[in-house]
Amino acid sequence: MYQIGVDIGGTNIKVGLVNETMELVQTCSVRFPHDGARSVVKTIEEAVDFLLRQQAIARKDVESVGIVVPGSIDQKGERVIDAYNLGFHDVPLKALAQEAFGEIPVYLANDANGAALAELYAGAFRGCKTAVLFTLGTGLGGGIILGGHMFNGGMNQGVELGHMYLVNGGEHCTCGNDGCMEAYCAASALARDGQRAMKKHPESLIAARAGGSPENVDAKLVIDCAKEGDETAKAVFDQYIDSLSSACASIYNLLDPEVIAIGGGVCGAGEFLFAPLREKTTGKCFYKTHGKLVPAELGNDAGMIGAAMLHKDAQ
Ligand SMILES: [Zn+2]
Repeated sequence: MYQIGVDIGGTNIKVGLVNETMELVQTCSVRFPHDGARSVVKTIEEAVDFLLRQQAIARKDVESVGIVVPGSIDQKGERVIDAYNLGFHDVPLKALAQEAFGEIPVYLANDANGAALAELYAGAFRGCKTAVLFTLGTGLGGGIILGGHMFNGGMNQGVELGHMYLVNGGEHCTCGNDGCMEAYCAASALARDGQRAMKKHPESLIAARAGGSPENVDAKLVIDCAKEGDETAKAVFDQYIDSLSSACASIYNLLDPEVIAIGGGVCGAGEFLFAPLREKTTGKCFYKTHGKLVPAELGNDAGMIGAAMLHKDAQ
């Protein structure tokens, strides 16, 4: 039997066909149509039928259709409450998709939770019962695996790892509060701090590489300059790692997970990030020993694979 995993983003919808060994057999990416949920479901249905035709697979050989979205889902896993990038507000997405797919059961989840589930079945969390994923991007998403299942909060409202408080009265966050982890540990926070440092240090390599324009400073540029030994970039990156290590230590203290995995573009820094991150985290951790701290394994496919595994998580 096959599973379908659908990862809806504000630009593209990615659809993947997953086999019994949890591999993506074939994927396709289609433009997100910004004209309502029915149109989105129709687009997904067409993409699914395209993949099935390509592989000469019948709909009856598909066991489930899982969908992940960048937004909040209601407690029953049926409605998208808010997905700002999609323009979805209180959309009964599961019912609409169920109408399209008939007998095939449809599942719906948040994309960060889905990514954690993907790591559980096919990535860095294989064999784990307790694990935490941070995804560092423009925002900061995360997912928790507890007891070998996706944990969606005690009240089933979700987990908002990015909005844990890190600094009282700190940097302003997209959620409206000040001092959240996202405002310090998202890739965008690293870019922001790089831009500030560039203005203070016009002699720095960051300033030279950016041609004096702050908008040219992104997280990768800061990391590249730090790798090349620029003192300004090194100080910014060191401060960033310090913030991230505080969050990781808090997670170890709270849940004692077997693994914390970190995903997102910042992880392209490899051991340049992970070696000091582990050292700082261990120094702050309550326990003398703690679980592994590693890069996430699945990258851009995590959403599709996680969506395809939602049916297993429901068992
Ligand atoms: Zn926040």
